[in-house]
Amino acid sequence: MKDHLIKATIYDGMVRAYTIVSTETVEEARRRHDTWATATAAMGRTITITAMMGALLKDDQSLTVKVEGGGPIGAIMADGNAKGEVRGYVVNPHVDFDLNEKGKLDVARAVGKNGALSIVKDLGLKDYFTGQVPIVSGEISEDFTYYFAHSEQIPSAVGAGVLVNPDHSVLAAGGFIVQVMPGADEDLIAELEEQIQNFEPISSLIQKGYTPEQILSKLFPDEEVKIHESMPIEFKCKCSKERLGVAIKGLGNEEIDSMISEEHGAEATCHFCNEVYHFNESELERLKE
Ligand SMILES: [Zn+2]
Repeated sequence: MKDHLIKATIYDGMVRAYTIVSTETVEEARRRHDTWATATAAMGRTITITAMMGALLKDDQSLTVKVEGGGPIGAIMADGNAKGEVRGYVVNPHVDFDLNEKGKLDVARAVGKNGALSIVKDLGLKDYFTGQVPIVSGEISEDFTYYFAHSEQIPSAVGAGVLVNPDHSVLAAGGFIVQVMPGADEDLIAELEEQIQNFEPISSLIQKGYTPEQILSKLFPDEEVKIHESMPIEFKCKCSKERLGVAIKGLGNEEIDSMISEEHGAEATCHFCNEVYHFNESELERLKE
C-alpha cells in the first residue's frame, strides 16, 4: 500500500478526521538520515503529524514544525505542504534507548520535556501564522494535542505511531487527527475522548495492514463517515544545487576564496534530506560577488 491520507467528516460535519499511513515516507527519512530506533520514532511521529497538518492547508501554503525538548536528540524539524510533500530530520540521529515501561520506544526520553513545540505556517502573500507551546510530554502526539487546544483553540485528538524492525528499518507508521468543529456539544467531545483513549495503537493497526479508510471505520464504528479526499503522501525535499549555492554565496568572497585555495572545492549537505552537493573550483568562482 502506497502512503496516503484521507480527509473525512463525521457526526454531520461536526467532527473532522484525518488518517494517514506513512510507513514508506518515514522509512525514506530514516534511510536518508540513518536514524536509530528511538530517534526514528520521534522523527517519524513528527513527520507523520506534519504531513496531516500540511493537508489541513490549501494551495501553495506550507508549514514548518520544530520540536525542541532539550533531550539527547536535539531538535526535530519537519515541513509539509498541501500537496502531500513532507520532509524532516533530527539534529542527533544516533539516539536509541531501551524500551520504556510500556514496552514502547522511549520517545519522551529522547525528545526531553524542557522546551517548546513551534509551528510556522506560510499562508502565502507574506502572511504567516506562528504558534508556540511548551512541550508537555515529549511523546509528540500529546504535544500536538496540546498545541491545537492552546494555540489554535481547536479541541483535537492527535495520534501517531512508528514501529521499527530489528534491522532498524520502519515496519509501520501512521497517525490520525480528530478535531471538533466550533459549536459541537460537550457530550460529543466527551464521547470522542473516551473512544480515542480506548483505541488500539495506530502503529499496530498499520502493521496488520489497515488502510487509512479502515482505521477511520475502526475509530468510528457506529457513525457514518463521509470521505472527502484521498491524497498520496511522500518524502520530498525542495533543495537543489542552486539553492545551496545561494547559501555558499552568503558566506562571502573571503570564505569562498579559502574553499578554493585550501579545499579546491566544497561540499554542501541539505539538512532536510542529507543530499550532498559538490562544487568544484570554477563553480565556486562563479558564486563570488
Ligand atoms: Zn534536501
